[in-house]
Amino acid sequence: MVSAYVALGANLGDAAATVRWAIERLALLPKTTLLACSSLYRSDPVDAVGPDFINAVVALRTALSAIGLLGELQGLEQLAGRERPYHHAPRTLDLDLLLYGNDQIESPGLSVPHPRMLQRAFVLLPLAEIAPHRVVAAQLQAVQSQRINRLERQAHAGMPDAGPRCCMGALS
Ligand code: ADP
Ligand code: MG
Repeated sequence: MVSAYVALGANLGDAAATVRWAIERLALLPKTTLLACSSLYRSDPVDAVGPDFINAVVALRTALSAIGLLGELQGLEQLAGRERPYHHAPRTLDLDLLLYGNDQIESPGLSVPHPRMLQRAFVLLPLAEIAPHRVVAAQLQAVQSQRINRLERQAHAGMPDAGPRCCMGALS
């Protein structure tokens, strides 16, 4: 079993509902347990166009291979109706594999750690919330000019039964 971290982002339609839906689906992946999920965050589009993004990061424990997990993530993107009309297009759902244990993977369809994760506040802040040991202060400092707001817990706890059962504590 391996600890893996997945970043979620959406900026089309009801983006918060899509992210919550995706977290519920990640909890149901085969050979996989959802260990923790961050708050939801709102951020400006970075390397993308369109409305603000809703972002989150989850921690999984999985017996899937990294490629197998990526395949499941892409399946969920498809289920959410993601199309790729052009590079950096607005997206109903983007799921990126940030970390897979301590593995370093460079293959044509998969790079881990995710090559752009250190440039993105919308990845580093939610990751630091659930896995502070995987982010260092200098990395957070380097992205501090990027606008990102943690949504009030109220904003995503208000819908009965809509949220996943998440453990919010840090992972050791
Ligand atoms: P991005 O997330 O960078 O905006 P896409 O979601 O369209 O772009 O992903 C493009 C490709 O990135 C996918 O076809 C996938 O194979 C590849 N990819 C490489 N490494 C990863 C990773 N760690 N997580 C998710 N996708 C990845
Ligand atoms: Mg992606």
